[in-house]
Order: sequence, then C-alpha cells, then structure tokens
Amino acid sequence: TAPADNVIDCKAFAAGIRARVAAQVAALKPQGLTPGLAVVLVGEDPASQVYVRNKGKLTREAGMRSEEIRLPADTPEADLIAAVETLNADPGIHGILVQMPLPGHIDEQRVLACIDPVKDVDGLSVVNAGRLVAGEDGMVPCTPLGCLMLLKDRLGDLTGKRALVLGRSLLVGKPMAQLLLAENCTVTVAHSRTRELAEECRRADILVVAVGRPEMVRGDWVKPGATVIDVGINRIPGENGKNRLVGDVCFAEAAKVAGAITPVPGGVGLMTIACLLVNTVTAACRQAGLAPPE
Ligand code: NDP
Repeated sequence: TAPADNVIDCKAFAAGIRARVAAQVAALKPQGLTPGLAVVLVGEDPASQVYVRNKGKLTREAGMRSEEIRLPADTPEADLIAAVETLNADPGIHGILVQMPLPGHIDEQRVLACIDPVKDVDGLSVVNAGRLVAGEDGMVPCTPLGCLMLLKDRLGDLTGKRALVLGRSLLVGKPMAQLLLAENCTVTVAHSRTRELAEECRRADILVVAVGRPEMVRGDWVKPGATVIDVGINRIPGENGKNRLVGDVCFAEAAKVAGAITPVPGGVGLMTIACLLVNTVTAACRQAGLAPPE
C-alpha cells in the first residue's frame, strides 16, 4: 500500500541524497580527489557487522573508496589507537568511523579523541561537539544531521518553531538540540528526569525522539499537526518467534495525529548512512582545500 501522505518517505529522500553525493564524487574525480572512508570494527557484534557491511556497500556505490578494518574483540586499546593513527596519517582516507559500541575493556572517549577532528565523520569527538556549540564549521553527527534535513525539507524555515528533543545523548539528543537552536527554534531538551513529559511533548511543533524505549511516545503526546521524527530503533519479540523493529514512538497512534512522521524501519536510519557519505565528501574537500559542495 502507498504510504499515507503524512508519512515521510525517508527511503526516497535518502536515495536522493546518495545520488547527489555520487554526482559530487564524480565531479571531484577530475580534480584528482576520491573521498575515502575507513570503518573500524572491533569484535563480532552482529548488528554492528550489518551496519559496517552496509556502510561499505553504499560508500562504494557512491564512487568513494571504502576501507574496512576488522580487529578481534580482545584487541588492546593501544592497538586500536595505533590503527586509528595509521588512518589519520593516510592521505587517501578522509573519514574515519570507529563503530560503536566498543568492547568493555576499551575507553570509547579515549579512542574518539585520537581521531583527527577533520576526519571524524561521526562528529563524536569533543572537538567537533564543541565546534557545533560554538557555531564553527566542524563535523556534525550523522543522525541529527539527517533529521534536520528531513525537517527542513518538510517544513522549510524552522524559525520560531517550538521543538522538543526527547533524549540527551552525545550521539543524537544534544547535537540535535544544537542544530535546531541554530535554525532559530525554541528548543526544549527532555530526558529521564523530565517531569510531565507528555505535556511537554504536546507543546511541540517538532518532536524528535531518541530514547531507546519501544513505542514510549503515545498518540496523545503529539500535538495535532506536529512533525514527529522517530530516531529509535528497538528490536521487540514479534509474531512466530521473530523479532521486529519498532521506534520510540507508537507509530500507529501518532500517525493519526501528526502532520508528518517518520516510520521505523525505513526511516531515520537510512538518513544516517546517507549523511555519513555527505560528511565524508565534506571532510575530503576540506582536507584538499576545496570548498565543500552545498
Ligand atoms: P542513549 O541511551 O544514549 O540515550 C537515551 C536518552 O533517552 C537519554 O538521554 C535518557 O535520559 C533518555 N531516556 C531514557 N529513558 C527515558 C524515559 N523513560 N523518559 C525520558 N527520557 C528517557 O540512546 P541514543 O541517543 O544513543 O539512542 C536512542 C535511540 O536511537 C536508540 O533506540 C538507538 O538505537 C537509536 N539510534 C538510531 C540511530 C539511527 O540511525 N536511526 C542512530 C543512533 C541511535 P537520561 O540522559 O536522563 O538518562
């Protein structure tokens, strides 16, 4: 069945972004620049393996160079850092992504801090988080960047809109709030200690949800006509023993109220990977002294 017209077609939108990136990459080739992305995977987490394989495939499809570095689960932190430093020094690699989560014996922040900030296409290092807050050019984390693209495409100018970001992680909630603030929204950040959460949500014209709690946001938490971006990806037991994916928003209920809403699966996750490609091209241009494409 065709999606209802308030369901945001993230699949088509993400495909459009990837096509645009592929055209930009093709235009850089004659200038002697092929953007290169290295993804480092430590251990054998099945979900991470799927993500890494997918990232590699889409990177190559966009005409870029893709490197995958796989290290055993018991790799010492020093060896992982040495691998990152080799990539920092490699002029053919413009983006470095260390797939999270890392095994427990490794300090994630220490590893992220070793990635050259201009190659930190995940935008998770302290330097890039700081640049975002300061309004300087840096690398913006892929998921909130993708959410912002969806919002601007749907709503145009976001000035003056009341936005509520549910979740305050370094990966999603905090950078999302900063991006919306930079677009002149009136931003509220809610979290596990927020009181009267449903009422807070109901005030929002824009509701971005990243909590990791299956279907927590109900239909009556959504202001009629609001735009709802559901970042959550949760596996819950479905029929006949198989798992199914649901978001942090109860889609069936919220879709009846929202002016626009992203589905799960087939939603924000697709935008995240597309934005990783965008960030890699941006990083490559900056490193080559070229203006990044608009
Ligand atoms: P984190 O676990 O790092 O953060 C969750 C946030 O939600 C925290 O700020 C926490 O509050 C808040 N929270 C948790 N429970 C509640 C509650 N009951 N009421 C209010 N707030 C609550 O998660 P991430 O931000 O990394 O990810 C969130 C979700 O997004 C996950 O489902 C993840 O799988 C998904 N995700 C999807 C991506 C995509 O590409 N689509 C990319 C990244 C993540 P507090 O700070 O107070 O603890």
